[in-house]
Amino acid sequence: MTEPTRPLDSALLQRLRAAVGSRAVLFEVADRHVYGGDNSRLHALPGAVVLAEDEAQLQALVAFAAEHRIALTARGRGTATTGAAVPSAGGIVVAFERMDRLLRIEPDDRLAVVQPGLINGQLQQQLAAAGFFWPPDPTSSPYATIGGNLACNAGGPRTVKYGASRDNLLALRVVGGRGEVISSGHRGSKTAVGYDLCRLYCGAEGTLGLISEATLRLTPAPTASRALRALYRDAHAATHAVARIMAQSVTPSALEFLDAGALALVRRDPQVRLPAGAALLLLEVDGHPDELRRAAAAVAQAAAVDGLLEWAEADDPAQAQALWAARKALSPMLRKLAPKKINEDVVVPVSRLPMLLEGLQELAARHRITIINFGHAGNGNVHVNLLYDPAQAGRSAAAQTCLEAVFELVFSLDGTLSGEHGIGLLKRPFMARAIPPATLALMRQLKAVFDPAGIFNPGKVLPD
Ligand SMILES: Cc1cc2nc3c(=O)[nH]c(=O)nc-3n(C[C@H](O)[C@H](O)[C@H](O)COP(=O)(O)OP(=O)(O)OC[C@H]3O[C@@H](n4cnc5c(N)ncnc54)[C@H](O)[C@@H]3O)c2cc1C
Repeated sequence: MTEPTRPLDSALLQRLRAAVGSRAVLFEVADRHVYGGDNSRLHALPGAVVLAEDEAQLQALVAFAAEHRIALTARGRGTATTGAAVPSAGGIVVAFERMDRLLRIEPDDRLAVVQPGLINGQLQQQLAAAGFFWPPDPTSSPYATIGGNLACNAGGPRTVKYGASRDNLLALRVVGGRGEVISSGHRGSKTAVGYDLCRLYCGAEGTLGLISEATLRLTPAPTASRALRALYRDAHAATHAVARIMAQSVTPSALEFLDAGALALVRRDPQVRLPAGAALLLLEVDGHPDELRRAAAAVAQAAAVDGLLEWAEADDPAQAQALWAARKALSPMLRKLAPKKINEDVVVPVSRLPMLLEGLQELAARHRITIINFGHAGNGNVHVNLLYDPAQAGRSAAAQTCLEAVFELVFSLDGTLSGEHGIGLLKRPFMARAIPPATLALMRQLKAVFDPAGIFNPGKVLPD
């Protein structure tokens, strides 16, 4: 893979302005600084920021960058947790906040056509008015963009029933490595024509091209939903219940797990009233009102394993809302517990969740690192948070050793590195353990074909 290294000098900056229009280029240090980081807290100063306006301008930008071998890092709103949106120092950030329109909703074909900079939450509001929703619902949806969601294959609580971004995508327009426009996928709900490039671009973290337009698969909004919760004696009982719930015929529309540490945080919210228990499942079933009672009963039956302390069906919507709000606030709240948080989102087969949780408990004790776990248990996707104080001697090294052991544990259970946050910069060192060598080699070859000048988000996803 060719790595572009050339930073922007003043002569190149003039040519960039000529290629994309002066009003689209930010060059002041203060502006460039703002676009240099993401939620990983990593940072690099780009040489310039280009505010994307339309596809033709993106084509001119890519042609310019390919000719001069300048790195291009696409940016939605920088909520990535892995460094995926951190630019190459001296390269160009392509910011999509001006390409933020919902172009059309076509209810008969259950699709919406959007620009990549549209915020997920804004899309959902407009879809709700039309009786639809787009299933990917990351906790960051009030800020994160559809382009960022697609590039990371983002998911959320609803993924267990409705799938992640990749499963809810019909077609893409992407500006490729030679400045050409690649159309992939089809607006129909079924196709069997050629290679599925749409699925390849989705989850590529901006390393194969710049998404300029997306046709999203919509789902009619369910007419009713019911919030449920189950409190357990310990994580083993709760995760055993998850496997039983997933083995029966009613798929919940959300199936979230919280361990004792996460529960303690949730309990800090004065609105939340929960009886004693050391692990919680937060569930939801949806559908037609007539079906909900039967669906809830089927899930309750599966959830009733040894160790169940309390089962509740939230007849009090305010209480259910408070619990979900506290669950969604968990990620930022963790930052208050310790100065440093390593936030992973590993995946194991659902049947192995009990072994994962037991193993994590052992690792926390062995390395003397606080580990708090919660997440989308119905997909076997657990947010594993290692919390420590780097100012204390030896703690950073202990956390790194513990992290490696976490991944070893995950691989030993047939799991993998990430369910939704992606690889970015932070997880690259572990890619060679997650992906077999021949597969990794093919991925590198694909990268070279899609991006011959090596300009798209270099240094991300694939290891050196
Ligand atoms: C508090 C918090 C909660 C979160 N919760 C979840 C969650 O529940 N589920 C989940 O999946 N994620 C979650 N995330 C992670 C993050 O929000 C998602 O990955 C989101 O999809 C990123 O969107 P963004 O617009 O911020 O993209 P950015 O962070 O700006 O970019 C992410 C990646 O997408 C690429 N990209 C952006 N736009 C384009 C484009 N037009 N073309 C090509 N590549 C592009 C970037 O280059 C980068 O590689 C959370 C993050 C935070 C901070």
